[in-house]
Formats: sequence, C-alpha cells, structure tokens
Amino acid sequence: MNPFNELGIRHDIVNAITELGFEKPTPIQEGAIPLLLSGSNDFVGLAQTGTGKTAAFGLPLLELIDYSKNHPQALILCPTRELCLQISNDVKNYAKNLPNVNVVAVYGGAAIVNQLKEIRRGVQIVVATPGRMLDILNRKAIDFTQVKFVVLDEADEMLNMGFQDDINDILSTTPAEKKTWLFSATMPREVREIAKKYMTDPKELTMGKQNTGNVNIEHEFYTVKARDKYAAFKRIVDYNPEIFGIVFCRTKIETQEIAESLVKDGYNADSLHGDLSQQQRDKVMKRYRDRSLQLLIATDVAARGIDVQDVTHVINYSLPDEIENYTHRSGRTGRAGKSGISICIINSKETHKIRQIEKVIGKSFTKAEIPSGFDVVEKQLFGLVHKVHHVEVNDKQIDQYIPRIMDEFADMSKEEIIKRFASLEFNRFLDYYKNAPDLNATADDRGRDNDRGPRDAGNSAYTRLFINLGSVDDFNRGDLLGYICNNSGISGRNVGKIDMKGVFSFFEVENDQVEKVMTGFKSVDFHGREVKIEVSGEAASSGERRGGSGGGRSERSGGGGYQGGGRSGGGGYGGGYKGGGNRERSGGGGERSSGGGGFRDFSGKSREERSSGTGSSPSKSGSGGERRRRSS
Ligand code: ADP
Ligand code: MG
Repeated sequence: MNPFNELGIRHDIVNAITELGFEKPTPIQEGAIPLLLSGSNDFVGLAQTGTGKTAAFGLPLLELIDYSKNHPQALILCPTRELCLQISNDVKNYAKNLPNVNVVAVYGGAAIVNQLKEIRRGVQIVVATPGRMLDILNRKAIDFTQVKFVVLDEADEMLNMGFQDDINDILSTTPAEKKTWLFSATMPREVREIAKKYMTDPKELTMGKQNTGNVNIEHEFYTVKARDKYAAFKRIVDYNPEIFGIVFCRTKIETQEIAESLVKDGYNADSLHGDLSQQQRDKVMKRYRDRSLQLLIATDVAARGIDVQDVTHVINYSLPDEIENYTHRSGRTGRAGKSGISICIINSKETHKIRQIEKVIGKSFTKAEIPSGFDVVEKQLFGLVHKVHHVEVNDKQIDQYIPRIMDEFADMSKEEIIKRFASLEFNRFLDYYKNAPDLNATADDRGRDNDRGPRDAGNSAYTRLFINLGSVDDFNRGDLLGYICNNSGISGRNVGKIDMKGVFSFFEVENDQVEKVMTGFKSVDFHGREVKIEVSGEAASSGERRGGSGGGRSERSGGGGYQGGGRSGGGGYGGGYKGGGNRERSGGGGERSSGGGGFRDFSGKSREERSSGTGSSPSKSGSGGERRRRSS
C-alpha cells in the first residue's frame, strides 16, 4: 500500500499520484499533510526546492474541498504565470480520478474572457497570479466570501514583484476565519513579515536546516575574463553534450542576446522573459518541457517554482542581484531526489559574491576550470561514439541501402571505417577547438580585462610557418615536431607553438632557424606528395596570440563557431552531435551551410589562415577539402 493512504489521502487521489511516481511522501509532505488535513491552523512550510511542496498543500486541499458545492473554496496565489499553470496542472493531475473537481488558472497575458467563462461555470479551486486575480475581483466576477483556504506559494517573490497591495486587496475579500498556508524554500525577512501580517499563530514546519540549498545540487564556479564569458559558456555547454539546462541572465535584453547568439551558433536555445507575450512564453515553456529545446535562457521569471523534469544544469550566466535568488535558480535542477549541477560563470571581481552565496546556501562551491579545447574535443568524440553505439536503427528503412553501402566499404577494414565515421564529426571539433585559448582567468587578470595578458608581450622571436601536413596524415603534435626536426636538423627547443589542422598545420620556429627549415624541406616528399613549407601570412608569435584571443572573440560573436560547422555539414550525422538539440532544427542546419562540406566563416583569424597565401585553399569545405587533398 502506498503510505500516502496512511497520511489520510483517499484512494482515488493516491492512485493518481502513484501513477505520477509518488511512491512515498517526501519529508515536507509527511509533516505537512496530517497537520493541514485538520484544516484548523494557519501554516508556514519551509522546505528546499524540489521537495514536493505543491503536493504538500495540493493533496490536503483536495481532501478538504466540498465537491457537492461549486463555489470557490480555495485560492492559491503564486508569482508567475508559468508557475500558476504548473500548479493548476499539478492539482488537476492529483484530482484526475475525482468527479466534479473544478480548478481554474487565472493569470495575466491570456484572454480574460475565457477565464471568466470558466469561473462562471463553477470553480472550487482558483490558482492565480495576483494582478489578474484582482482584476477579476474588481469586475465582481468571482465571489470569495466562502473561501476556506488560501495558499501563498513563493510569497516573498510576490512581494518582490510589487504585488503586496494586490495581495492585501485580494485577501480582504476572503473571510477572516479562512486558513492561510504559506510555502517557501527560503525564509527571508519578507516571509516572516507576511506570516506576521496575514496569519494567526501559524504552525511552522521547517524541513532540513533553514534556508539551505537543496542537498542534491553541486555548485561550481568558473572564473573568466568578462569578454570571454560567452565563449566560456559555450565551452561548458560543448563539454556537456547531454546538457538540458536553464541559463539565468540578469536582464531581458541579455537573455535575448544570448539566445540569439546561441541559435546563430547552431545551438538549440530560446529565451523566456517577461516582455514576451503569454503565447510566446507558453510556447517556449512547452518546447522546453517537451525537451525539444535544450537550453532555456531566462530571467528570474523562471527561477521560482518551475518544475521541469531532469534539468541537468542551471547556469548562472550572470549572478542574481539578490543572493537569495540563487537558491531558487539553482533549485530548478536536482528536483524530486535527482541530482543536478549549478554553475556560476564569474569574473574575478565577483569571487566574494560566491563566498556570500556559500554562506546563504550552507554549501561550498567547487572552483572549476573551463575545459580546454582538447578536453571538449575528447568529450565530444566519445559522446559521438556513445551515440553511434546507442542509435536506434530503423531496419525497415535502411535495409534497402545496406547492400550498396556494404559495397562502398568493401575494401575497408572495420578499423578504417570506424576511424572515418568518427572523423566525420571529429575533424570539425578539432578545427574549431584546435586554437582554442585558455579561458580561465588567473588572479592576475583582475581588473585587467583589456590587457592581452603577459604571454602576448612581444614574443616576436618566432616565425610562423605553414606546412601542408596535418592530422589527416596521422600526425599528432609530437609526430609533427619530430618530423620537422628530423628533416631540418633543428632542435625541438627551436620550435614554438604547433597548430595542427586537418590537412595542414602551422608551427613557430625561432627566426634564425627559418632558413634551416626551408632548406631542410626542399624536395622532401610524404607518401609521394611534395611537402610544402611557407612563411605564414600572419605575423609569428605575437600575431598568433592575438589570433588566439581573436579566436575567443569570434567564439563570442560567433556566426557559427564550431557548432555551425557541425551543423552545416549537411549530411554526415545530420549535422548533429547536439543530441536532442537538433530535432527541431535539423533541416535548418543544412540551409545555413555556407559551403559544401562544412566550415562557415567563423572567425576572422581562420579566414585569414585559410587564404593565407598558401595556395592550398585548404578547406573551403571541410571534409570535402580533405578528401580532395588526400586523393591528390
Ligand atoms: P517544490 O515546490 O518543493 O520546489 P514541487 O512541488 O514542484 O517542488 O515538486 C518537485 C517534483 O517532485 C515534481 O516533479 C513532483 O512531481 C515531484 N514529487 C513531488 N512529490 C513527490 C513524491 N512524493 N514522490 C516522487 N516525486 C514527487
Ligand atoms: Mg514549489
């Protein structure tokens, strides 16, 4: 038997919540339900985010309603439209086996006439945001004189949003002897005041240590220079191919900008904020709930109460203005006993805020490092391998092509085929991330956001050379270094940075060693192909470093970046390592492709490199170009 029965919840409701996966009550439910069922007290319930507060008040409410009467008996007030819809849906779900239950959601931004119509039909439970509720009350379209219970969910946020007067007015239309229940994850001063103001002698139930964050959430922070924030953020996303996240920004404009850049860069993201129409908001929320959006970029409208299953990461792109809000933001993950990660991307001046947040949530942060380009590439590669392993094969559809495909691959070994399939995507990660700068800000970076950093300082003792060999020739950096040294007789110590590309590479050599390299490589051939060395159009070291940060810049202003590359690959894996992300956009990816096989113009630097007078026009089209060169 489901222990909810023992708490006093009737079978029809228990059956419904059992279907929702509620096998036993959470601590707040276990504590609150018996108390609330008596119907005789005001009540304050404090419990961490994601611990089932909705059912803690929703289930006893459903027990206390007289369904033979069709007038408002319970009013649930909450701060946002999204939360209003969510709570009314939750309550309807709990009640789905009960006859004659009428729940109405009342919230702004949607046609009032429909809400009025529903109210006229008869309603016992009203779930509302304060503004619209007051509007309807002012029209005398609803009668609250027989309300027995009022629930204030996320009450402090309603006050933050300036609903204090509306709440006063609404409550003044309800009988003095009604019972008021307040639920919150945190107990800021405002909540205390509400309790004092609206309640008589409330019973208080606190689960866990007061105000602490959810125990299932791990907190991490990354320190970057302000100008690298977007690039760093993308790097984190790329490092987590399976991410299903909510990204919090401080302003509406910021959410919109980030979402637009992300979409341009081939990610599956959209923004949610208060300036959207209700229809737009609903659409975004629905897409996110359906997981056809991978990243929801939101203001704090999405911080309170929103319950989406299995959010893997909350990313604080900007820290919240109110530290308290961090608890609510991060609480969108790690819900219903699952685990989650909450990330802050900060600049070094904000470190003290992390310390403040730590005090509030009673947990410490882990300082994390922005993954290197190499880390990302490796992670993505194995993500791809994993995907190939688990892909659902549609035998019926694909069978007809198999003989021809088999034919095509007849002369290749299994290893060779696997290598090629993996390379299809892998080359693109490599190309995007090969030059990826280290985005971690050091303590030195404090206040020097505009500096180029010590590494850039006039290291012009090197010349940057082009060589028409790269990773497709089975070279790694070490191999190439050895190859260069062997052929030219210079020492590894004379060689600076090596930049491996697909079909070509760049390497730095001390200025006085350039001649030696040029001479050494005269008439060297590699598997029948003449090896070419040329001085790169771009200046050496300092130029490279500038290029490096330029890469960062381009990661930000994007126009594609790696993702675009992957996307525009047209063919291949449907351009898509972005997992669920692609579902909606797989068509669009192809359209955005700028060239046959792959690259988009994603960075000024790369463009320069590609046309840097090498005559090799290495890769107008990624893999296509590589193939051409290989066969030449
Ligand atoms: P809170 O309001 O405390 O942040 P919610 O009421 O939104 O949390 O519930 C968080 C999630 O936990 C929801 O998806 C809900 O369906 C689920 N949940 C609630 N109670 C239980 C339970 N007893 N067993 C399993 N899941 C539950
Ligand atoms: Mg809640």
